[in-house]
Amino acid sequence: MRLVLLGGPGSGKGTQADVLKEKYNVVKLSTGDLLRGEISKNSELGIKAKSFMDKGELVPDSVMIGILDKITADFEAKKQGYILDGFPRTIPQAEALLEMLEKQGVELTMALLIDVPEEELIRRLSGRWTCRVCSYTTLKDENGNPKACPKCGGELYQRDDDKKETIINRLKVYHKNTMPLIDFFKDKELLEEIDGYGKLEEISQRILDLFEKKGIE
Ligand code: ADP
Repeated sequence: MRLVLLGGPGSGKGTQADVLKEKYNVVKLSTGDLLRGEISKNSELGIKAKSFMDKGELVPDSVMIGILDKITADFEAKKQGYILDGFPRTIPQAEALLEMLEKQGVELTMALLIDVPEEELIRRLSGRWTCRVCSYTTLKDENGNPKACPKCGGELYQRDDDKKETIINRLKVYHKNTMPLIDFFKDKELLEEIDGYGKLEEISQRILDLFEKKGIE
């Protein structure tokens, strides 16, 4: 399986990718997690990426395309299926991805759009806390902030870019740069869409039902 997950910030791409990777024994590549890892290591890439990420801007295509090249070649070498969470985010990135797959002589299985209304995205992002250890995200509860990750017990923190002003900018960037990918993949007959509003398990079930219908194993 070579899957691209599309959807706005907070649409549940990362969460659903975690469910799918267990079920289908594939790996998840989240470019956001990868960049945050580089930031915590204070690497050259991390330092460069942070200045864009903190403002809710995209890291330049040249940087992102360079990273992807190395990683997916590695997946192919290991014959390992994968889910891309957060890549591509622009038309040039999508073109680079398809070009690379063609060079590798393989095909993208599908680009799956998780469709969530904008008000819901804002609600989710502004109340969301992320685990430092496993990147699981959870919403603040009514009684205050959660103290530990419900999945692995790790420490939770609020991402720098999950602040109100940055959220608004990320949504703008999503509209301008990433939404055109919906038509891009539709034209190539690679797009599928599911309703991303509802409980986590319901959304997972919608994806599993779609995969079954499409004969994806
Ligand atoms: P979300 O999808 O919730 O916005 P991510 O963790 O996927 O969060 O991404 C966080 C930030 O990382 C983005 O706002 C952007 O700055 C950067 N980033 C991640 N993936 C890409 C990419 N493919 N191209 C450019 N920037 C990226």
